[in-house]
Amino acid sequence: GDAGVPGRVRVAVRLRPRNGEEMIADADFADCVELQPEVKRLKLRKNNWDTDTFEFDEVLTEYASQKRVYEVVAKPVVEGVLDGYNGTIMAYGQTGTGKTYTLGQLGEEDVADRGIMVRAMEDILAQVSLETDSISVSYLQLYMETVQDLLDPANDNIAIVEDPKSGDVSVPGATLVEIRDQHSFLELLQLGEAHRFAANTKLNTESSRSHAILMVHVRRSLKTRDGESNGNSHMTKSLKPPLVRKGKLVVVDLAGSERISKSGSEGHTLEEAKSINLSLSALGKCINALAENSSHVPFRDSKLTRLLRDSFGGTARTSLVITIGPSPRHRGETTSTIMFGQRAM
Ligand code: ADP
Ligand code: MG
Repeated sequence: GDAGVPGRVRVAVRLRPRNGEEMIADADFADCVELQPEVKRLKLRKNNWDTDTFEFDEVLTEYASQKRVYEVVAKPVVEGVLDGYNGTIMAYGQTGTGKTYTLGQLGEEDVADRGIMVRAMEDILAQVSLETDSISVSYLQLYMETVQDLLDPANDNIAIVEDPKSGDVSVPGATLVEIRDQHSFLELLQLGEAHRFAANTKLNTESSRSHAILMVHVRRSLKTRDGESNGNSHMTKSLKPPLVRKGKLVVVDLAGSERISKSGSEGHTLEEAKSINLSLSALGKCINALAENSSHVPFRDSKLTRLLRDSFGGTARTSLVITIGPSPRHRGETTSTIMFGQRAM
């Protein structure tokens, strides 16, 4: 889909650079993909002589900076939120391919490393006026079809509430923190990450098995100047209510897309495997339904898609970044990630 066009999913693919191990162990092997960013194409090597070619809305090579990734993947969505529309930014891919780096990197050592969450808040803080506007944040984890509060670990089974009239989705049980500066937001992300680690240690699982969901609510009171307010110029200044615009940004660091073995050999259960596959496949079905302009989008099928219902499709802007690694060893997983991205377009 086109940048910032509501109701369509904009899909970018991002390749992570080879890590140290891959540089040594796979030194004699070519990457499993070749990117052509100018023409927004990706070539997937099937073997030494055969490739498949795919097109994406944006192709981000291993040299793409975090700043550029923010600009092409997230900025149109954030601008929509500032204008009063909801929006979703998601990262999908195999564990270890850069989902968290893309979305959640704090950049404590180098601000150039900052990921989408931090840059989005920077943009929002720069454009709102905290005298009249407010920004508030919830941070959740979705694991085994249960919503947990990453800002309050005791709060580990949060209900999702849908307003039947407006269609608005809310999680009234979740901690909502008002943000006034970047520093307090960074602290909140760190706290959430620490709680996520603790919760997963306790449950003996890994963060790659759950979805992390950041929700940013932006409420703006726009003062209208005399004679300028859409057809209401006959009203006197004192009668004119401020125009309120509410937008919600949802950033989703999805569970790893790799097929989870059903053997239980890594300490996870069949139930866990099923529920992770359930929410990711429900998401895939909703994305496909949107891409096909289908009149029925099966949002009800999972907690993840119920949470996203009001910030996905319709007037909302949606951006999906699929993350892949270069290693020929993971060609199978890389291929299935690419297919997920293709079906969204
Ligand atoms: P995921 O969240 O998908 O499991 P991570 O974001 O944790 O993957 O990334 C795995 C490792 O690769 C991390 O050490 C991360 O810093 C590094 N990495 C990922 N993407 C990039 C990138 N584009 N540039 C540099 N390092 C990256
Ligand atoms: Mg991660």
